[in-house]
Amino acid sequence: MLRRPMSRPIEHRYRDPLDVIWLGVARRIGWRVERSAEVYASWDGDRTLTLSDAAGFDADDCLAQMILHEICHALVQGPARLSAVDWGLCNFDDRDAIAEHACHRLQAALADTVGLRGFFAVTTDWRPYWDALPADPLAAGDDPAIALARAAWPAATRGPWSAAIADGLAATAVIARAVQPFTRRGMLWRRVAERQHPLGGGLGPDDATCAGCAWRFRGGPGRAVDRCRRHRPDGGTAPRIDPAWPACVAFEPPLAAQDCLGCGACCRHGFDLVQVGPREPLVTAGSPLVVRDGAGWHIPRPGGLCAALAPDGGQWPCTVYGDRPRSCRDFAVGGEACLEARRRVGLSR
Ligand code: SF4
Ligand code: SF4
Repeated sequence: MLRRPMSRPIEHRYRDPLDVIWLGVARRIGWRVERSAEVYASWDGDRTLTLSDAAGFDADDCLAQMILHEICHALVQGPARLSAVDWGLCNFDDRDAIAEHACHRLQAALADTVGLRGFFAVTTDWRPYWDALPADPLAAGDDPAIALARAAWPAATRGPWSAAIADGLAATAVIARAVQPFTRRGMLWRRVAERQHPLGGGLGPDDATCAGCAWRFRGGPGRAVDRCRRHRPDGGTAPRIDPAWPACVAFEPPLAAQDCLGCGACCRHGFDLVQVGPREPLVTAGSPLVVRDGAGWHIPRPGGLCAALAPDGGQWPCTVYGDRPRSCRDFAVGGEACLEARRRVGLSR
């Protein structure tokens, strides 16, 4: 029998790989994670997230889920609430239930990108809401949490933290799939979507395929090759797809002009400037909406919102639609810039 050495120096300590990944995600976004028997989860309003020690976790809790959950809270509450203890949310009653629900929707949508909604399920008494979420947790509906979650989606997927979050999710998915042959019934690791999209990540609506997706386009000689704009790497080539593939979570149904009133993405935060030609009606008629400066003739967009818009309860009517500038007339509904604008405002994934 080997005897345990008494004075051997230990140079490398074992750590749970998933803990390593998500503590790394927290570090990359500038957070310090501490563990304590005194709390379940608490943000100090500065840069420290304190989570319960292992003894205080439920059996289906894990550090990965807890850290992703708190990141989603931070994203839903927005940068102004980073300096507030617990993101300014009340933990003692349901007064902030909408914000909590929005956090769930955002977390589910992020987990869906790698087919891990079941694995990243929230625990505690909030679980019934999570379990009742629809296939698309960001789809339009009458739950007020949807708008909050949608508003946070661009920051979650395109903002300064997005690369760390995406890397954490992708690394978790690799482990989740590698461990499958070794799992047993009842293990959290079993809660992994069995099927993935051929380009990676989770599947979208059951009855949809790439053929019907607005992100699909035909390129190459004779426009014979189906490709996907959505999964194009930065500056890279859009990957080939098979139109018969099941849709991924970023599936977007085709858009038409009648969708614009309820969207308005290209007129609000999608782009920076509405240029107007010097001979266009708005200029020749002396519209007070048009200004001229170093950027030429244009309609200003204070805070991203075009000055010609008159927002009305989720509708985005244009007050100069008949005389709108050519740059607006030429904007292709369902084209790449349209889809990009919708992504920037959280309407499209
Ligand atoms: S976004 Fe998804 S569903 Fe749409 S074409 Fe690309 S891979 Fe297919
Ligand atoms: S982003 Fe596209 S769908 Fe939305 S208002 Fe502009 S053109 Fe219409």
